[in-house]
Amino acid sequence: MLTLFLPKVTHHSPPLFFTVKHDTNRLNWDKLRFCKLLILKGFSFSLMGVRLPPSAPNYFFLMNDKRSSEKPIVPPGEFSEYIRNLLTSCLRGLTKSISTDVVLSKKLADLESEVLKGESISSPIDLGKEIVKLNNIFIEEIKKIREGSRALKDELEDQRRTSITLAEKLEQSQAQALVDPLTKVLNRAAYNMRIGQMIQEFKRYQEEWALLTLDIDHFKKFNDEYGHQLGDNVLKSVAGTVKNCIRVSDRIFRYGGEEFVVLLSRVNSQIATHLAEKICQEVEKSFVLHGDKKLKVTVSIGGAIITSGDNELSIFERADKAMYGAKNNGRNQVLMDL
Ligand code: GH3
Ligand code: MG
Ligand code: MG
Repeated sequence: MLTLFLPKVTHHSPPLFFTVKHDTNRLNWDKLRFCKLLILKGFSFSLMGVRLPPSAPNYFFLMNDKRSSEKPIVPPGEFSEYIRNLLTSCLRGLTKSISTDVVLSKKLADLESEVLKGESISSPIDLGKEIVKLNNIFIEEIKKIREGSRALKDELEDQRRTSITLAEKLEQSQAQALVDPLTKVLNRAAYNMRIGQMIQEFKRYQEEWALLTLDIDHFKKFNDEYGHQLGDNVLKSVAGTVKNCIRVSDRIFRYGGEEFVVLLSRVNSQIATHLAEKICQEVEKSFVLHGDKKLKVTVSIGGAIITSGDNELSIFERADKAMYGAKNNGRNQVLMDL
């Protein structure tokens, strides 16, 4: 509500003061608007603000600047009426704007309290905007997830490739671990694995097989005479010769030093003996070159055919014993434990 205090105004009125009291605290803007209205009506007023405590009702004072003007703006006698009309029209406008402001500020207060209560203040239009905003956020999130999953897929593919490479390397190194680096035939570790399997297979299928042990004769002497390097060449040559004599299903192992073991699959004693003889002869025929000199070695071979009473150790021992028998018999020969 606005209350207008209008002093008695006469022609000789000294400075003209109006006091407008307002019962809200939001008058600064209205005050300016009021002055503007008066100015538009042809009056010039200066504003004399009084600062009051925020809790107190606001006042503002208007002073007629034209008080010293020789020519009165408003004819004598009519001045008071003129001002009254002017202020009434101004106040009407002001009241209207203030009441609008009051409604708005009430609305604002309601909204604020709703916000504080945590209730939704979205209008349908706001809600639409919110949905669009949320949708955009979702799209962005989905994009990020898609990019993330693509990156993850690539990473998984890399890891898959790496693990394949590692598995291949592992397989290679496992295979290498079973191969003798000098002669490239299987080593003692491979023999230990295979002999167990052969024993089990015999128990299951009763298919006979033979084990040969093969030792190079007087190899120490050979090394002493021609050197270790040529001795190595002889080891490679003997391994190659044995390989050429056996079938792909048969196996040769470097058991240690200058001693080899051969496992002959699906053979009887006759075939095993024949193969052992053949190996012995082929080694005798083979040679390594030293300049234009052909260097030869011989081997002594012992053999045994698997029996139901055999285990991993016994069949080897029988063959090895036979091999030493062959050595004792004069070397470069085969002795089978049948
Ligand atoms: P035997 O006829 O009784 O078997 O006599 P041998 O000299 O062959 O037997 P011995 O066990 O006395 O000597 C084996 C020799 O084999 C000794 C060693 O110098 C040689 N030798 C073992 N491994 C290698 C190898 O990897 N390279 C070479 N060059 N020689 C080896
Ligand atoms: Mg030996
Ligand atoms: Mg020897």
